[in-house]
Amino acid sequence: MSHPSLKSHYRCILYLKDEGERSLLQPGTRLYGQFVPSTGTVFMTPYPPPSKSFPVVAVIREPTVRRPRHNGLLTVFTNDQLLMTEGVLNNRQVELPIETVYMAASYARTPFSSSEMETLQGKTVTIIGVGTGGGKIAAELARADIGHLKLCDPDRMDFPNISRHEGDLLDVGKPKTQVVAERVYRINPAIRIETYFEDIFRRPPNEIKEILNSHLVVAATDKTAKQLLLNELTLRLKIPCVFGGCYEEALGGEVLYTLPGEKMPCLACLCAGLEQPQRSAKIDYSTATGPEDYQGEPGLHAAIDFVTCTEVLMCLGILLREVPTSKLAKLIDPRFNFILIGGALGAGFYRFRKPFDIFFQPLKGPRKNCPVCGDNRGLLRDVSNSQEYVEGQDAHVRTEDK
Ligand SMILES: [Zn+2]
Repeated sequence: MSHPSLKSHYRCILYLKDEGERSLLQPGTRLYGQFVPSTGTVFMTPYPPPSKSFPVVAVIREPTVRRPRHNGLLTVFTNDQLLMTEGVLNNRQVELPIETVYMAASYARTPFSSSEMETLQGKTVTIIGVGTGGGKIAAELARADIGHLKLCDPDRMDFPNISRHEGDLLDVGKPKTQVVAERVYRINPAIRIETYFEDIFRRPPNEIKEILNSHLVVAATDKTAKQLLLNELTLRLKIPCVFGGCYEEALGGEVLYTLPGEKMPCLACLCAGLEQPQRSAKIDYSTATGPEDYQGEPGLHAAIDFVTCTEVLMCLGILLREVPTSKLAKLIDPRFNFILIGGALGAGFYRFRKPFDIFFQPLKGPRKNCPVCGDNRGLLRDVSNSQEYVEGQDAHVRTEDK
């Protein structure tokens, strides 16, 4: 037995989704996690991590098995119904009782009702592009206790990303999917995470379809052609999709969502030109020459977050539509699927009259001549031509009417 004083020095926390998951704690099971020296806490959980950043910290063994004495690798065993851990930490022999913490503790102050929580836990969301917007949305969905996330992005974290992305200097060089997956895992290791560190559109059509297969797709790439492709594919596959974008210097931004099967304009309708019913004014989205026209100058992270947070609320509203009492679900109205978001510095820019001018912009549509959702949608390209579509098409890129 170890010295009693050592017990008070350290704390061991075992994180489980719920009491039923105690069945995972069988002899031979590996527990992943980390020792946090500043708090003296050993954190451990049976859910496999998205990367090797969370090593095996303990192994569950029968009480009779002889235990190894590696520094940092602990043994977990039961002692009179009490879950205990034993081993060497910081070169000191320890024997500690394990405190089991269930996921509900993390969500004790969540604003969601139990039926909303249950609904969100049953949802899968695919995020295409986990840069500034997509990465933030993934983290926020994790904080809302989503059940399953699929993260897709072909890029690696680089120094210029530090000012806006989830992640920090120690993440430079890692795939962005890994950075975001690690963030999500640290918020809730019980969330199922799949990562695709690649351009998923280079895969065969049936595999693209499988990756997109979820309750919601978040189109957060910075390539307009791919946003348009996702518009087409998600409508075809009958998956709701949320699109977001910022204007130059994040003076403002916009969020559009589509709900297949419900009458509303799609991204292609918007890109083809938007007629505004009240003023008969026209936004011309047809004159830009490349995605950079739509992207604009980089904005302050806090200003971009303003747009991203609106996207997050729309995502949650869509996912919670089946819960009659959900207040977030009431945000979702097929007649108003386009939101313009003016930032702090947006007064006088575009349609924004004052700082923080946020409103649902009515759209006419679906447009009859829209190739994706209009009367001629029978002419849609087959999903199997998606690659040709991505590479062959000159993007209709949105720009602003001045
Ligand atoms: Zn359309």
